[in-house]
Amino acid sequence: MTAAFCSQCATPMAAATLGGKERPQCPACGFVAWRNPAPVGMAVIEHEGQLVMIRRSAAPLADYWAPPAGYVECGESVPAAVRREAREECGLDIELDGLIGVYSQADVDVLIVAYRARSIGGTLRAGDDASDVRLFAAQQLPPQASPVDGSATDRWLYGVIQEATAGWRPA
Ligand SMILES: [Zn+2]
Repeated sequence: MTAAFCSQCATPMAAATLGGKERPQCPACGFVAWRNPAPVGMAVIEHEGQLVMIRRSAAPLADYWAPPAGYVECGESVPAAVRREAREECGLDIELDGLIGVYSQADVDVLIVAYRARSIGGTLRAGDDASDVRLFAAQQLPPQASPVDGSATDRWLYGVIQEATAGWRPA
């Protein structure tokens, strides 16, 4: 979705071809509304020997179990955002333990940076975008149906969750 008016001078935006693609550009001041995927940090947290999963309270994948994740904000690094989201969504202070992967797909407007992490403090409780939080033993993750009727983002996020938690699933 693109704003109808220029964010710099409020002139109605027009279509322009830049770099071989059509993009909204302001005919008055030249401002281009570039669209970039928003970065999301994810923490695959080990706590008391088990995997921390929150139940997502909102789309995409509402009611699915997933590792805590959220948008990186300006003014913080990706690791700082991951630590903040963990504290907000599951109440734990965490230490990051290496990158699992970076996930993106052309038709999805976010990209996910997933880290392995372990708890170093805090108290497990669901908060923010989580309706519940639970610990799952290795090889005992909750079975979740693939969102075949979901959006492209739903289906992609489902795959990212499967991949990022693969170490906790039967080989
Ligand atoms: Zn303008």
